[in-house]
Parts: sequence; C-alpha cells; structure tokens
Amino acid sequence: MKPLHRLVRMHIASVGVSKFCFLLSLAFCGLLLLLIPALQPSARQVDLPHPRPQVRPSQTGQLHHVGLRAGSNHDEETDSTRGLKRSSAGQGESIDTDVIRKEKPDPKRGTDPKTGALLVRKPNGLSRSRTQDPLQLKDIFIAVKTTKKYHKSRLGLLTQTWVSQAQEQTFIFTDGEDKELQKRTGANIINTNCSAAHTRQALCCKMSVEYDKFIESQKKWFCHVDDDNYVVLPSLLRLLSTYHHSQDVYLGRPSLDHPIEAAERVKSDGSVSVKFWFATGGAGFCISRGLALKMSPWASLGNFISTAEKIRLPDDCTIGYIIEALLEVTLTHTHLFHSHLENLQKLPTDTVLDQVTLSYGGFENRRNVVSIVGGFTLYEDPTRFKTVHCLLYADTDWCPKLKARHKH
Ligand code: UDP
Ligand code: MN
Repeated sequence: MKPLHRLVRMHIASVGVSKFCFLLSLAFCGLLLLLIPALQPSARQVDLPHPRPQVRPSQTGQLHHVGLRAGSNHDEETDSTRGLKRSSAGQGESIDTDVIRKEKPDPKRGTDPKTGALLVRKPNGLSRSRTQDPLQLKDIFIAVKTTKKYHKSRLGLLTQTWVSQAQEQTFIFTDGEDKELQKRTGANIINTNCSAAHTRQALCCKMSVEYDKFIESQKKWFCHVDDDNYVVLPSLLRLLSTYHHSQDVYLGRPSLDHPIEAAERVKSDGSVSVKFWFATGGAGFCISRGLALKMSPWASLGNFISTAEKIRLPDDCTIGYIIEALLEVTLTHTHLFHSHLENLQKLPTDTVLDQVTLSYGGFENRRNVVSIVGGFTLYEDPTRFKTVHCLLYADTDWCPKLKARHKH
C-alpha cells in the first residue's frame, strides 16, 4: 500500500495537469472563434461568379450597356428597297465589337448587370453564376436558309468553311432533294417542301420549319443565318455565353434606324398600328430557348405562316413582330452581325475575326466584301470566307501553308 501523503500528492498533480489541459483547450476554442469571421469572406470570394469577358483581350472595343436602342443608329444611312441600311461601322469609335443592350438587368431574377448572366441562388445563400456550366457549341442550333439553285455555289463554300466545324448543330433548310449534298456536307439537310420562290410565303414557310425543328432539337439557342453568311463560331459562342438560355433574349442587327410599323391584325382588327424593331435575317439573329418557347402560339406548327400572313410582312419582320409587339420583349441590338446590305469594307480589318456573322455581296456591281489579308488573293477568294476560315483554323488541309508560300 502507498503511503497516504504520496497518494495525496499524486492526486494534486493529476488535478493540476487536467486543469492545465482544460484551460489550454478553452484558449484554443476561443482562438478558433476569433478566426471564423476572418476566414469567412475569403471563402465567399472563391464562390462569387466571374463575369465572362465579351471580347478577346487583344481587342479594345468597349461594351456599352445603353438603355436606349436607337442610340446606335444615328450615324447610319438607310439604303435599299428592303429598307435596310448601310452601316458606317469603323468610323470614329469602334462600334464593331459593341453590344448594345436595351434590356435592363432584372434584380428579381438575379442577373449580373455586367454580363446578363443569370445568377442562381444556392441553398447556402451564396450566388453562383450558371455560366460556370459553360455553353458549348453543341448547345446552339444553327439554321441556314437556302434554296436548290444555291446548293453548289453558296452551300459549297459554307460546307467547306465554317459548317465543317459545326456539322452536328448546323441544319440546312432547303426546298429540293439533293442526295449529293447530304453526302458532301455531313450536316443535317432538311427538305422543307416549301416553294423555291423568293416570295414572302415561301420564306415564311422555311422559317416555320426552322422554328419547329429547333423546338424539337432541345438545344439552348436558335440562330438563323442565310446561305451567304459566314458564322465565326468562337465569337458566337462567346456572345451567347454572356446570357442564359432561359432568359428572354433576341439578339441581332436592325436594318432600319427606326422601328417598323404594321397594322395590328393579331390582337386587334387592324385599325390600330404597332411599332416594333426586328433583326434583319440577312445578318443572322439568335433567340434563347426560353423566349422561343413563349413564341409558340404564333410560331409553331404552321402558326408562323398565318401570323406572317396577317401582318403581311417577311419572315424576319414576323419574328420581330411576335417578340416585340406580341410578347413585349425587346430586341438586343448588336453590331456583331453583318449583312451585305451594309458596307462591309468599312469593318476594321483587325476586328473581322471578332464579328459573329459576315456576308458578301455585290458581284453584279461593286464587290462588297470584308477587307482581310491572308492566304488568298481577291481572285482566289472573292467572298473572303476562305481567308477568314484559314485565319481561324490554320490547320485546315486546304489552307495555304505560309512557309511554303514564302519559298516561292
Ligand atoms: N432564298 C430562298 N429562295 C429563293 C431565293 C433565296 O430561300 O428563291 C434564300 C437564299 O438562299 C438566302 C436568302 O433567301 O439564304 C436571301 O437570299 P439572297 O441572299 O439571294 O437575297 P437578299 O440577301 O438580297 O435578300
Ligand atoms: Mn443575301
């Protein structure tokens, strides 16, 4: 047996040790409590959405978020019977890379005022941009309107160039069977069975099929182009990535510097008129899936044709009418889309690859093409589409190898 005094000493010693441990853990907990607020903000910063840059860092074009849509058109002159205007892009400030937004950011839906990206409220209360799930090319439905007589000439050039980089998501809407075209392109050829005439009815018939096929496709964005458009796919992806497909988005270039006026024969008897903007089809335009679904009563399953007949306007105007006049969603004006009704030479050379669509025209009279220098002369590449394509995709097998050219 241990002597009593030794037992008492041991007890006192162990009490001393546990007391010390207790105090030490108390101090540690206190320190932790003090550190929590200091750690919290940095964790939050990591989770904040990062706005996507709209333009390549090398380009200096600024984005303007302007509340009024007409502001951009003051320096442009009206041209042509389609009521379409020539753009003076390239003069003065660099409007080529501008996107002018009419829509105001909606705080209720949590849109990022810089990018228009929809912010999703997570259960933990932190906002997170859905753009963290990045938009991919396969999410975009690209409809190309064509007609049988252009299968070889115009479509040949497209399938050789940009369509070759987007075969799965490009849908070519035509008016005649062409088994060869199907084999040659690898893209989706859709025979609309619409008339091959260049009439309002025939063109609206094609647009109606384009709309239905898009809805069926489940893709996030509907973009329409003509067969004389070059689509700069990286720019298109970059532009659409700044929006969310569930937002109401209608993007394109107006051809007029004022809204068009039409007799209101859908909501009323035609005794009153409505004013609305529309994106010109010849420059291409895009519509988000969210908005396209809302267009359904006036656009799906042949309704598009009857809507166009009621207002007696072409396909692109009818799209504008449904969106602006009936759904009261405004067109987001952009200078990144181009038709041959503007002076394409005025587009600054160093911004050509940043545009979303390009075009060519005027073979009859003066040639109207973008000015760009590359592997082909104007004689070898009169539309400049091959030159643009080789600057974007230098690895393409038919693109001139610059080294080989220098030797000669
Ligand atoms: N187009 C068509 N049917 C026709 C003529 C043209 O579907 O009978 C298409 C053509 O393929 C192009 C668009 O309509 O995608 C515009 O035609 P074009 O470029 O010849 O005319 P513009 O641009 O001057 O309106
Ligand atoms: Mn054209």
